[in-house]
Amino acid sequence: MRISYLALSDTRCTVQVSGCNFRCRGCFSNERHPGGEDVSPARIAEQIPPGREVLLAGGEPTIDKQGLVSLIHELDGRKVILSTNGYCLDEALLENLARVTVHIDLKALDPQLHRWYTGRDNARVLEAIRLLYDQGFDFEVNTVYIPDVVNISEVEHIAAFLSNIGNIRYKVIRYVPFGGFSQRPAEEEINAATTAASKYLDNVSSSIENRSHPARSQVVRLVP
Ligand code: SF4
Repeated sequence: MRISYLALSDTRCTVQVSGCNFRCRGCFSNERHPGGEDVSPARIAEQIPPGREVLLAGGEPTIDKQGLVSLIHELDGRKVILSTNGYCLDEALLENLARVTVHIDLKALDPQLHRWYTGRDNARVLEAIRLLYDQGFDFEVNTVYIPDVVNISEVEHIAAFLSNIGNIRYKVIRYVPFGGFSQRPAEEEINAATTAASKYLDNVSSSIENRSHPARSQVVRLVP
């Protein structure tokens, strides 16, 4: 797998995979670009100290399906969270992800907005959400709230769509501005968006009340 680095905290190891199949206009991640080192799944797993949960992120961890499946196999027995844009999350891949917790992004429900923002159609992402629900996965859907781009009405439409599938866990993420694209939303906007989504779903949270990234971590670069 092509890996940029590992980020180690006391409780978690984040594996930053290089490369992404989306071209989100507001992306701040250096890992979206191809790069990093080609490291075997066995070598990645042996660098992760015991007792840490493992977050697979990037970039997009599903673009190398075979590498991802091998890494999850190597990580057997650990808690693994897969953070994904969902585009490659098809039935065949899900068969190999038993016991993995999935955080899937739904950037936008409006197909035109999704295509404009990411460069890709959202039909496969919507289907992946249905599959995760139907197959009983432990998962949540995340949407980045971006002022004037992905706003309260879009969040509300997404929540209504999800509620038609089931009572799905949903999280609104506060946008971190990058390269002059939009701005940081006010806390009140995020709270209003979660309130709007809560009309449809019982379990709605935001990145303001519920941080998912450890505050301090050590960066470990791997060599092949
Ligand atoms: S899916 Fe994530 S990493 Fe890829 S371009 Fe979009 S925000 Fe960046």
